[in-house]
Amino acid sequence: MRYSLRSKLTLSYLLIVVTVVGLISLIANTYFKMQFEDYVIKRQENQTNEIINLIKQQYQTDKAFDISYLERVGMNALEKGMIIDISDADNKLIWSASHHNGGLCEAMMYNMQKNMYSYHANWNGKYEEKSYTLTFNNQKIGTLTTGYMGPYYFNNEELIFIKAFNKLFIIIGAISLLLAFVLGIAMSLRISKPLNKIAHKALLLSEGNYQERLDDTSNTKEIEMLIQTINKLSVALENKEKLRKQLTQDVAHELRTPLTSVQGHMEAMIDGIWEMDTKRLSSCYDEIIRIQKLIGNIENLSGIENENVLLNKEAFDLSQLVSRLLDNYEKEFLAKKIHVSYVPSKTLIYADQDKMSQVLNNILSNAVKYSREGGMIEIRAASRHKATEIHVRDTGIGISEADLPLIFERFYRADKSRNSKTGGMGVGLTITKAIVEAHGGSIAVRSKVNEGTEFVVVIPRNEE
Ligand code: ADP
Repeated sequence: MRYSLRSKLTLSYLLIVVTVVGLISLIANTYFKMQFEDYVIKRQENQTNEIINLIKQQYQTDKAFDISYLERVGMNALEKGMIIDISDADNKLIWSASHHNGGLCEAMMYNMQKNMYSYHANWNGKYEEKSYTLTFNNQKIGTLTTGYMGPYYFNNEELIFIKAFNKLFIIIGAISLLLAFVLGIAMSLRISKPLNKIAHKALLLSEGNYQERLDDTSNTKEIEMLIQTINKLSVALENKEKLRKQLTQDVAHELRTPLTSVQGHMEAMIDGIWEMDTKRLSSCYDEIIRIQKLIGNIENLSGIENENVLLNKEAFDLSQLVSRLLDNYEKEFLAKKIHVSYVPSKTLIYADQDKMSQVLNNILSNAVKYSREGGMIEIRAASRHKATEIHVRDTGIGISEADLPLIFERFYRADKSRNSKTGGMGVGLTITKAIVEAHGGSIAVRSKVNEGTEFVVVIPRNEE
C-alpha cells in the first residue's frame, strides 16, 4: 500500500500533536489531581480545626456550651459538606446536624456523592466519621464528631474549577489538532507540488523530451538541489542527443565522401572513360585507406568508451618523451613558421608511456593544426609533490566559449566546415580525456578566440 506524501505528512503532524497534547494532558492532569486532592484533604482538616476552635472559644467565654451558637457553627459546617455532632463530657448529645435537619443532611450528602461520581464514575468513597475530643484547661469538655464523604470530597465550586480545567485541555487539544491538520496540508502541498512537477519532468526526460526546463524555485535545500540537478540532466541529455545525431550525420558524411569518390573512379574506369592506370587505382586505394582509418577511429573510441583503458604504468622522464615528439613535428613547425618554447629538464612521471605519448601527440597535433603561421607553442612540465603537471599553450585561433565545454565529446568539432581542411574527426580529445582519467588524472582547457588555447594535464604520482 502506497500513501501520498500529503497524507503521510498530515498524518505524522496529527500523530505528533495527539502524542504531545495527550502526554502533556496526562502529566498535567495526574500532577494536578494529586495536588488538588492534597489541597482538598488539607481544606477539610482546616475546616475541622476551625470548628473545634470556634466551639472552644465559645466555651471559654461562657464556661458552658451555647446551643444556638453551636447550631450556627453546625449549620455553617453543613453548608460546607460536613455533618457534625457535639456531645458534652458525659457523652450526652448536645447538638446534632442530623437531628436538627435530617433532610438537609441527606440532601447535602447526596449532592456530595453526585459531585464525586460526576468527577469520577468509578469513585468508591463512602460516608466517614471522625471524632475529636474537645478540651478546656486540659479537661475534656466534650466530643466533636464530623461526618463527610471520604476520603475527600469536592464542593460545587471546586468541581466547576476542575471541569473548566479539563475543558481547557480539550479546547487546546482540538485547536492543536486543527492547526496540525491545516499546517500538515499546507506543508505537504509546498513539498509535494514541486516534487510532482519534478516527477513529471523526469517522466518527460525518460520519453526523450529534453527541451523544457523547470523554472520553479524552492526554499527547501534538497528540493532546490533536485530541480537544479534535473535541469542539468536535461541540458546534458539534450547535448548528448544532439551529439548522437551529429555523430550519425558525421559518420555518414565521412563515409560518403571517400565512397562516392571511389564509386566515381570505378564507374569511369568500368565505362572506359578512364584508363585503369596505377595513378587512378592508387587514388582509389587512398580513399579506401581513409575509410579504414575512419573505421579504426570509431573502433578505437568504442574500445575506450566501453571498457577501462588497460595501463602499463612505469616511472619515466617526461622531458625525453616531449623532446622526441617535438622532433617528429619539426617539419610542420617549419612549414607554419611556428616558434616552439620548451626547456627540457628531468620531469618524473608515473604513467603508461605509450598512452602518454598518445595524449601529448593529440594535444600537440591540435596545437599545430589550429595555430596560424608565425604562431607560438609553449610546453611546460613540472613534477610536484603529488602530481605531474603538463601545460601546452598555443597562440592559435582559440575556441569559443560555447564550444569549450563540448570539445571532449566524441566527434565534436568546433567548426564543422573547417574539418575538410584540417582533417580532424573530433575524437582525439575524447580519447585523450579517457586516457588521462584512466590514470586518475584530469585535463582542463582555457581558451580565448583569436588569442589561443592552453591544455593542462595533471597526472597523479601515486606509485601503487
Ligand atoms: P579534431 O580531430 O577535430 O582536432 P579533437 O577531439 O582533437 O578533434 O578536438 C575537438 C575540437 O576541439 C577540434 O575540432 C577543435 O575545434 C577544438 N580544438 C582542439 N584543440 C584546439 C586548439 N589547440 N586550438 C583550437 N581549437 C582546438
